[in-house]
Amino acid sequence: MSTRLLLATRNAKKLAELQRILDAALGAGSVKLVGLADVPPYDDVPETGLTFVDNALLKAREGAAHTGLATVADDSGLAVDVLGGMPGVFSARWSGRHGDDAANLELLLAQISDVDDAHRGARFVCAAALVLPDGREFTVTGEMRGHLVREPRGTGGFGYDPIFVAEGRTVTNAELSPEEKDAISHRGKAFRALADVIREQVLEPRR
Ligand code: IMP
Repeated sequence: MSTRLLLATRNAKKLAELQRILDAALGAGSVKLVGLADVPPYDDVPETGLTFVDNALLKAREGAAHTGLATVADDSGLAVDVLGGMPGVFSARWSGRHGDDAANLELLLAQISDVDDAHRGARFVCAAALVLPDGREFTVTGEMRGHLVREPRGTGGFGYDPIFVAEGRTVTNAELSPEEKDAISHRGKAFRALADVIREQVLEPRR
């Protein structure tokens, strides 16, 4: 029988991505992920944390408290070196409009327009949290380093992908296939690390 886990998200792509990673790491069918659309509705918790880990924990705690299920949540964003790690936890609302990817990207490009190529380093960060019904909490993080180009390129991905070139690559994240991005992305790394925690803390104790 598979173990049910809640991923506290309404994003169907994230749900599918984590399910793929868990199936590959733990064996297909060992864990069945459900999303917020699959559980009785509750009010979203405001993302008031000042770190990715804080926000991931806030969302995972809320999910576990409302559903009684072991709950996973993630939080991610872009940390730009010359901006002291910003937009960071404000990545989704950097322009002041939550989720306006085009406006967020345009503002960021304008802010660093006079920064020379040698100093345009940045990294994507993803924190993932697992909160168990007994109150135990686990967190992992994944990072992808790279640099920011001056003009958006590519149509894949989302958010800041069209201006981010990962270390060792020449194309932007928006020019990678979803599989290529998953293999090197902050979220892919965090979710794969989380699969190990789920194996050790949720699946193996039951054997
Ligand atoms: P979330 O926490 O996954 O919802 O991500 C917050 C924000 O960070 C998004 O709205 C994007 O602006 C940015 N972001 C996170 N991950 C990525 C990515 O893989 N590519 C591009 N932008 C991202």
